Amino acid sequence: MSTKSSGSKVRYAVVGLGHIAQVAVLPGFKSARNSQLAALVSGDPGKRKALARKYRVTQVFSYEAYDQALRLVDAVYLGLPNHLHKEYAVRAAEAGVHVLCEKPMAVTEEECETMIAAAERNRTKLMVAYRLHFERGNLEAIRTLKSGRLGKVRIFSSDFAQQVKAGNVRVTEPVSRGGGPLYDMGVYCINAARYLFGAEPTKVVAVSASNRDRRFQKVEEMVSAVLQFPEERLASFTCSFGAADISRYTVVATKGVLTSDPAYEYAMDIEHEIIVGGKKSKRTFTKRDQFAAEISYFSDCILKNRTPEPSGLEGLADVRVVRALYESVRTGAAVALPPFPRKKKPSVVQEIHRPAHDKPKTVNSQSPTRESA
Ligand code: NDP
Repeated sequence: MSTKSSGSKVRYAVVGLGHIAQVAVLPGFKSARNSQLAALVSGDPGKRKALARKYRVTQVFSYEAYDQALRLVDAVYLGLPNHLHKEYAVRAAEAGVHVLCEKPMAVTEEECETMIAAAERNRTKLMVAYRLHFERGNLEAIRTLKSGRLGKVRIFSSDFAQQVKAGNVRVTEPVSRGGGPLYDMGVYCINAARYLFGAEPTKVVAVSASNRDRRFQKVEEMVSAVLQFPEERLASFTCSFGAADISRYTVVATKGVLTSDPAYEYAMDIEHEIIVGGKKSKRTFTKRDQFAAEISYFSDCILKNRTPEPSGLEGLADVRVVRALYESVRTGAAVALPPFPRKKKPSVVQEIHRPAHDKPKTVNSQSPTRESA
């Protein structure tokens, strides 16, 4: 545990003031009462100035001065592009600073393992920002399936798509640096399949496709994947950067069906439809601040010296599937996955409710068209 952590509030630096930092993370501090926004780290002087004024933060730093920022805070929230997660997480851990890292955790399994080892070595906390692990609708889906009311879970299928703007980091960074729809959106489908089945996949296969749009020169437009789970269960999903907004999963069990649509969002309500015994029921889970919830939870872990879950291992579990899927795309063959250490899966006791806020105006931010991945 870091010796710097003191008092009742955990002091954070938000690192990388792009889209997610501006629309969700910075405003989230308002209702994360055990957390203080203490510093901003950005390469853009205009953003540093405007956002420091907006959020009344006196400590602002460039990336060159990151080590200085680390001396002032207990924790960092990493809102950087995926290929930079490892470097900034390891540097924070080495300075005794706790790390809340955006998804996907990193680009490769080796990077994830390096981040986990750095946190262990320095006795700092490491959490991957899977906001849906604290969201009621999602946790209710897990509870419903676990209860057995719908019978035995057999099938998961999901579509997650958006139209990404040309020039966005999601399409300008190649897959080898964490660009592409699998790293960005596919991780949500993989993560959901893993916690809704309560298991780890054993074999995966995937194909990709791209139209001739100039956005898809470095990364593919879309990937479709099939994941085989123990007990002969199957999950499939398609994630796309070139199709209309959709964010949906359906779980088919032996006696009933649960559909969540939208499923992965943070800027709108989450909706469920359940069909069992010929009866249809619907439920709406009102929008709340999922970022305030995860920041509050992580601070609580720091203040009470508890191990956060979703841990680094949870981030690694998804990245290894992403990598296996890309191997399958490359080779055209199915890829077997070795057993993965059993770990705690999210459950409804993890729900944290924080009130929703209005979407803030952004500074120099290349917002995606939708508010989910
Ligand atoms: P953006 O491209 O909007 O922002 C990333 C920011 O990182 C940039 O604005 C920039 O901030 C900083 N940066 C530092 N170095 C670089 C570099 N070499 N190239 C580009 N940017 C750099 O991305 P997002 O905010 O959409 O995504 C950031 C992370 O958050 C990703 O890991 C993504 O997967 C995740 N994410 C999570 C979401 C969720 O729902 N949990 C939703 C969207 C994204 P500055 O100008 O301040 O230096």
